[in-house]
Amino acid sequence: MLSVSEAEAIIFNLVQPLNNQYDTEIVDLFAADSRILASVVTSQLDFPYWDNSAMDGYAVRYADVQQATQQQPVILEIIEEIPAGYQPQSTIQQGQAARIFTGAVMPKGADTIIMQEHTQREKNRVFILTAPTKPQEFVRQRATYYQAGTQLLPSGIMLHGSEIAVLATAQCTQISVYRRPRVAIFSTGNELVPPDQPLQPGQIVDSNQYALAALVRQSGGEPLILGIVPDEPGVLEKAIAYAVSNADIVISSGGVSVGDYDYVEQIVKYLDGKIHIQAVAMKPGKPLTVATFRNQVIYFGLPGNPASALVTFWRFVQPTIKKLSGLVEGWQPKFIKALTRQELRSDEKRETYFWGKLDLQNGIYKFQPASGNQSSGNLINLAQTNALAVLSVGQTLVSPGEEVQVLLY
Ligand code: AMP
Ligand code: MG
Repeated sequence: MLSVSEAEAIIFNLVQPLNNQYDTEIVDLFAADSRILASVVTSQLDFPYWDNSAMDGYAVRYADVQQATQQQPVILEIIEEIPAGYQPQSTIQQGQAARIFTGAVMPKGADTIIMQEHTQREKNRVFILTAPTKPQEFVRQRATYYQAGTQLLPSGIMLHGSEIAVLATAQCTQISVYRRPRVAIFSTGNELVPPDQPLQPGQIVDSNQYALAALVRQSGGEPLILGIVPDEPGVLEKAIAYAVSNADIVISSGGVSVGDYDYVEQIVKYLDGKIHIQAVAMKPGKPLTVATFRNQVIYFGLPGNPASALVTFWRFVQPTIKKLSGLVEGWQPKFIKALTRQELRSDEKRETYFWGKLDLQNGIYKFQPASGNQSSGNLINLAQTNALAVLSVGQTLVSPGEEVQVLLY
């Protein structure tokens, strides 16, 4: 059986990121949040656009005021007032100053700003009470933050508020982003019914499809929801064939164990899917099946037990969606070290995952396993968790206060 790290290497190797020419769409700035930039952004503008003042105060010539003190102020004549958004009209000559406000354009001749707090105004004269510490003080010079024509943002990054601010500043309003990966989702099982249907004896509500749709969206994918498929080879064949022709990634749950009604692997093979993984030494999640179709569509046959389906999603599917979506950095699973608040025990034969809550206390990450049964069939205590603690093969016990690896979701 493959180890988790072997399985991970195989899966991440199968992922071909979306193409930066064909797999893109244009969105406007208000729709750009959490999208992934598909091309390098440059701007023809410098930042700042113009030399401007960083303070409310006076634009002066450094040479005029470098000796100014409280006892011997330098007195300058105010020849212009320059609010933000206004083009200065005059040139500051020796002995002159302009009243200026934050963000306003520097007038010609001036090279330094004296902040208002270091001055005293008397009609059209200003007393400079403190010398600036250096020439150019409080001047934001054109192009000091960015020079026109150079790279402003690289492609393959996820856009959030700060990147969107940069795009707006550069007057890029139509943004080329990768389309969202299409992820087909269906559940298999004769016992399954949708949540809005009364339960007959022996039936089980299909929760996986709903959970997976939410997680796919959260990972940046576009879910294609295909419903419940019974454990009948003919119907399953049609569902899988439809899914692989309409998606970049297919996720099914159930039907991958060794039971008599577990047909997924058989049908995948029948449809010329290439099986890469049939089982992984992990708990929960052992029956995970991974295949590819036509070397491009990745098929995840997740185990049906709700906790197994979600743990294998977080561990393998989420990074796959993110890598496929064009994200260059940060698509990998994120592990950190935390101290467990309660003991964690494993049978040491398989890598074991415990769901729980990670929080930061006095600068130290602490992990609290969910109370109650950590069994693959228990989906109730998965709610309100945010992390999985991992015990590697051979690790049987982590005692309270000891360190453990934790995967964030
Ligand atoms: P399977 O992997 O098909 O053997 O299913 C294992 C267990 O998970 C069984 O108890 C199923 O009833 C349950 N199960 C399978 N699919 C789902 C689903 N979509 N939602 C909730 N439970 C499921
Ligand atoms: Mg089943």
